[in-house]
Amino acid sequence: MRLRQQYFLASASLQDVIRQWVRVHGEDFSQFAAKNCFQLNDTHPTIAVAELMRLLMDEHDLGWDEAWSITSKVMAYTNHTLLPEALERWPVRMFRQLLPRLLDVIYEINARFLAEVASHWPGDLDRQGRMSLIEEGYEQQIRMAYLAIVGSISVNGVAALHSELLQQGLFRDFYELWPEKFNNKTNGVTQRRWMASCNPGMSALITEAIGPGWITKLDELRKLASHADDPKFRARWRGIKQDNKVRLASLIEADCGVVFNTKAMFDVQVKRMHEYKRQLLNLLHVIHLYDRIKHGDTANWTPRCVLIGGKAAPGYYMAKQIIKLTNNIAKVINNDPEVGDKLKLAFLPNYRVTAMEIICPGTDLSEQISTAGKEASGTGNMKFMMNGAVTIGTLDGANIEIREEVGDENFFLFGLTAQQVEERRRDYNPVAIINADADIARIMHLLESGHFNQFEKGIFDPILHSLTSPHDPWLTIADLRGFIDAQQQASLAYQDQEKWARMSILNTAFSGKFSTDRTMLEYNAEIWKLQPLPEMPMN
Ligand SMILES: *Cc1c(COP(=O)(O)O)cnc(C)c1O
Repeated sequence: MRLRQQYFLASASLQDVIRQWVRVHGEDFSQFAAKNCFQLNDTHPTIAVAELMRLLMDEHDLGWDEAWSITSKVMAYTNHTLLPEALERWPVRMFRQLLPRLLDVIYEINARFLAEVASHWPGDLDRQGRMSLIEEGYEQQIRMAYLAIVGSISVNGVAALHSELLQQGLFRDFYELWPEKFNNKTNGVTQRRWMASCNPGMSALITEAIGPGWITKLDELRKLASHADDPKFRARWRGIKQDNKVRLASLIEADCGVVFNTKAMFDVQVKRMHEYKRQLLNLLHVIHLYDRIKHGDTANWTPRCVLIGGKAAPGYYMAKQIIKLTNNIAKVINNDPEVGDKLKLAFLPNYRVTAMEIICPGTDLSEQISTAGKEASGTGNMKFMMNGAVTIGTLDGANIEIREEVGDENFFLFGLTAQQVEERRRDYNPVAIINADADIARIMHLLESGHFNQFEKGIFDPILHSLTSPHDPWLTIADLRGFIDAQQQASLAYQDQEKWARMSILNTAFSGKFSTDRTMLEYNAEIWKLQPLPEMPMN
């Protein structure tokens, strides 16, 4: 069904464009490549490479060379993930049954491509096998990402680190063959939705301070930086953040039945539930705070309300376990009078864009804590930054560029780098780390003792097993000490509300790079090469 849907949508789009082309130019396709571009958004529409060849040859009588010359100039591919399990592969058997003509076309593309590989690396059969569009094995599969790379004029990742890792890792062979195809387009979010529409209070203050230019030129937010030193401006900024926290607290009370004290730090992690995003790391820190409260280690305490939200894919057992663990921990913490207002935890179900429009304006601390090298870019990180949340995060995806823009002193950094992650895998021993760190040992003991699943014996064993396995791909325990320390830094910084407001303003002020306007201008300048229309006067 999914392959049928992909084919239907790709073919319909191509036929629509060709129909309009023929209406103007007849069957003359000599200028088609100069005037058209199809930006393949992930591997889902990549079947368009083969389908355009079919349409040009079978429906419009072009020869192979002419059709390929057009196809390989109009297609461009954006990759969105480094996780190899997320790259689509379709069984050859399915293609043979559903799309036999396209299978012919793909075999021919592959034969010609492998001849090019052979001429570049004579006798290197390993390389030919690695790069083939067809994966051999128990069942032959078509590697859709490779079809996209072979058929495209441009291949890009969505943040600087991600594009670099594509070239050095996942697509290394292709980069060595065609380095000129590869480039980066750092993602963005639109300030029309993620500030002007969702945060009217802050938008009005910003416009009052620097004028309305930021709505179409986000870089102008830089002018806010000087206002960060103005105590009156900071007071108004804090007042608006406070109103937004009240609005978010109402949503949480309605959807989670948990009451957040709006004077506490709002510590938020909302994103799809996935092990690489490490909601578990966040939970281990929450357990640490709970453990400190229960031990009376609460001198100089910063009250926190922790929100975790996200959907799990229907078949992803571990992701659902993490949701269950969040709810169980929340029940223990939120019902303990000794914990009181010092700490709250809520799980928000049905996380969606309309919820994020309430969440990001009301957040103090944005959790961007993926295992370095795994988050292609992230865009939630940008929405939070734009709305004046401070990030606690790893050197992953666009976090790196966010920290570059806002400055190290306005970002809570922790954790292994992507390179250190790969080195650590070789001798990773989480049990040794746990035994050597009293705080971590207590966190793990609370989990292992069944404190959060007293009437559900053993249900969290799969989580405990994955955390303590030397093969844990996400190295959660390796980053836990650094995370706890960075969280403590954030807690202390929050106690100085003037300092925090300054950091918050500077995060918004330096978020200009992360507008989709900048992203689209780069795609256009380097790939699409369209002439922009003159700006229309807006009345
Ligand atoms: C922004 C957004 C995302 C992406 O969040 P990341 O933290 O970058 O993974 C996912 N879902 C919704 C509803 C969003 O608004």
